[in-house]
Amino acid sequence: MKILVTGAAGFIGSNFVYYYLSRYPERTIIGLDNLSYAGNLENLSLLSPDQKARFVFEKADITDTVQIKKILSKYPVDGIINFAAETHVDRSIHDPQVFLKTNILGTHVLLDAAKTIWHTKEGGWEDGKKFLQVSTDEVYGTLGPSGYFTETTPLDPHSPYSASKASADLVVKAYHDTYGMPVNITRCSNNYGPWQFPEKLIPLLIQNALLHREIPVYGDGKQIRDWLYVGDHCRAIDLVYESGKTGETYNIGGNNERENIVIIKKILVLLQDMTGDPHINDNLISYVKDRLGHDRRYAIDASKIKRDLHWEHKVPFDEGIERTVRWYLDHREWMANVISGEYTKFYEKNY
Ligand code: NAD
Repeated sequence: MKILVTGAAGFIGSNFVYYYLSRYPERTIIGLDNLSYAGNLENLSLLSPDQKARFVFEKADITDTVQIKKILSKYPVDGIINFAAETHVDRSIHDPQVFLKTNILGTHVLLDAAKTIWHTKEGGWEDGKKFLQVSTDEVYGTLGPSGYFTETTPLDPHSPYSASKASADLVVKAYHDTYGMPVNITRCSNNYGPWQFPEKLIPLLIQNALLHREIPVYGDGKQIRDWLYVGDHCRAIDLVYESGKTGETYNIGGNNERENIVIIKKILVLLQDMTGDPHINDNLISYVKDRLGHDRRYAIDASKIKRDLHWEHKVPFDEGIERTVRWYLDHREWMANVISGEYTKFYEKNY
């Protein structure tokens, strides 16, 4: 069995590649990524020789119809898991266009190319095919102090990023409702773990703290996010891909709501303990003007995937966050290569 994983050089995509190739020793992944600033093939440098033999990389852009059709014809894959996206909310506020292009049109290019190949002459679909769209809880908008997002919560995105992800979800749904395409959508809460690009909260704060740089905190820092270890997200995606009911959407979350400022302070304590550096402390925190349209609280009701697919998160937050901080400390060269831009040469040197 062979699947196409787009965004394979990104944070969750690369974690998924490791997870999937070790979970299924007979299967192959075609990993596709355009190696945007967030795509780093060094994320996949720890694949074992056996895993490497079952991983093929294609540098391609999901908005390029010709490239995508060529790749799908070259590799007759059983399914597609679409992680590829522009993902940084701040960037989407400053430059929305590339978000709309990649996240909406790119998703459509993938759907349409798959439809061309998987649709049978009789109007049905080849057996066993599936398109899984990796989406986010941000499509639901923001919550007050109580309540949870369920799969039937109306979409109410606020940032250009979340609007583009919500739009992509609707295009995926349309391909199911109109053509009967076998699809699933997953909507997960905030992930943390290894290989995350250091513009995102946790790796950014670790990097700044180690250099004794200011740690910018938006507004009062009391925005609430529901945090999930990336490995638990990967397991959930696998489960939905294997067993999710066609056409269904599944929320994924770990019932782990935390204020951003609580996470930041916790990581500073862990870093000080692990490095013994007394300069890593709360004095580094600098409150800055809040992000435009900043959602206040996200919280996921994941009871559907728990009930129907028997998924549970396995990694408790305290354990996961400690593991994550340790990982970044142990992979400072990886981090340094990202910061210096050296990582962009990895493709030329190794492929
Ligand atoms: P990321 O930014 O680390 O990775 C995205 C990857 O997509 C990068 O490798 C990038 O190079 C690639 N990419 C971007 N544009 C492309 C294009 N036009 N063609 C091909 N590849 C392209 O993001 P991530 O955090 O790994 O997120 C992966 C997916 O999961 C996204 O769809 C995101 O919306 C979703 N998601 C993320 C989180 C989270 O907390 N990080 C939570 C829920 C859902």
